[in-house]
Amino acid sequence: MEKKNIDWANLGFGYIQTDYRFVSNYKNGAWDDGIITEDANVVISECAGVLQYAQTIFEGMKAYTTADGRIVTFRPDLNGERMEQSAARLEMPVFPKDKFVEAVIKTIKANEAYVPPYGSGATLYIRPYMFGSNPVIGVKPASEYQFRVFTTPVGPYFKGGVKPLTIRVCDFDRAAPNGTGHIKAGLNYAMSLHAIVDAHNQGYDENMYLDAATRTKVEETGGANFLFVTKDGKVVTPKSNSILPSITRRSLVQVAKEYLGLEAEEREVYLDEVKDFAECGLCGTAAVISPVGKIVDHGKEICLPSGMTEMGPVTKKLYDTLTGIQMGTIKAPEGWVVEVK
Ligand SMILES: *Cc1c(COP(=O)(O)O)cnc(C)c1O
Repeated sequence: MEKKNIDWANLGFGYIQTDYRFVSNYKNGAWDDGIITEDANVVISECAGVLQYAQTIFEGMKAYTTADGRIVTFRPDLNGERMEQSAARLEMPVFPKDKFVEAVIKTIKANEAYVPPYGSGATLYIRPYMFGSNPVIGVKPASEYQFRVFTTPVGPYFKGGVKPLTIRVCDFDRAAPNGTGHIKAGLNYAMSLHAIVDAHNQGYDENMYLDAATRTKVEETGGANFLFVTKDGKVVTPKSNSILPSITRRSLVQVAKEYLGLEAEEREVYLDEVKDFAECGLCGTAAVISPVGKIVDHGKEICLPSGMTEMGPVTKKLYDTLTGIQMGTIKAPEGWVVEVK
């Protein structure tokens, strides 16, 4: 298969239309078989449920080429499972996770020419999503839905080296205690846009959201979970029912315990204790883990002792081990790396 003529190493994180996408429609209470199509456009009613009441959910994952030339993806069953949970919470029909994995693999295969080569640092980003497609004007769930999967090649996240982030404690809330913070819904992003534009205008890379009820506990950023390392080398991740269960974070915690022999604890993390941590990182599919150098709480600066100029030592080990597992240079736990071709 001839690869597309793309300058992989200099790609950014933007949408580049690829040749094929998967589309399946839900109508009269059932999903059709779905097809791979070249048509990148969606045509829906002006009154579609997604346009009026934001009934839409998504997933984000990657495919890449391993050191020995295989095309693989990472733990797609967990994305499928999470999308089932997102659908249930927004009264959308579940697209079963085994069919989800099949659709993802089909879409990657069809776009093989866009899977970046090993060593380029680039990856093929995969975006499965679902939305209410029939007209809805009285507030209720749609009765027809579309599930789609498209792909787009994206560049190396740490282009020109790792630059630790400066983030601020945000005065806006991301998710209510019994709301939708734990599902991957477009609506969680719509309401974060003002906060992130404001953060950027003030010179910050990201927002640290606190728990909405007490504003004393660390939740997550707009699109990534926190991971902290204590001064004695223990991994700590915030526990909350209003954060999105990041697959990267869950994998890093397992890597910490099983590959690096570190202790790891998921518990409530108070903003007051953040100053005592040695390292802080943001976990998500896009970067795997990006180091945080400084957290600013209304003018009060918390500087992480390691991580101001580069990744802290534990963050680096976690990053190297998980990316090694993904790229096939370190043996993966059973089921983590799924071969596409
Ligand atoms: C997608 C997402 C993450 C990261 O999850 P991964 O499965 O690791 O990619 C974290 N927080 C939010 C709010 C997200 O939407």
